[in-house]
Amino acid sequence: MIKIRRKFLRCSFCRKPESRVAKLIGGSRGYICDVCVAACNKILEATPPGFTGWESLSNEQLLDSLLPAEKTVEAVRAVLQAQIDVLRKRGISWAAIGDAMKISRQAAWERFS
Ligand SMILES: [Zn+2]
Repeated sequence: MIKIRRKFLRCSFCRKPESRVAKLIGGSRGYICDVCVAACNKILEATPPGFTGWESLSNEQLLDSLLPAEKTVEAVRAVLQAQIDVLRKRGISWAAIGDAMKISRQAAWERFS
């Protein structure tokens, strides 16, 4: 018998529950939310077609990959920063944020304040 526990669905990548994402797409073994799909699209944009490893790329291909890769990092970082900004507005401490991210309070503050 297959158990369906709809209220416990969450993104397999960022672990956000269905109630906290705009869209949640189901696969055979997991789920992905709209924010993670967008991040994956950015990663695909930053990866040249027929990718077989960074070492196999020419200098020109690697140079062409730098800007899309940086935009990917910025896009994902913006999502993280937005989440932390909401937590800070709610009065959540840097220690709690650091704990959640498995970094020190000081490191959390330095990276995100
Ligand atoms: Zn997600």
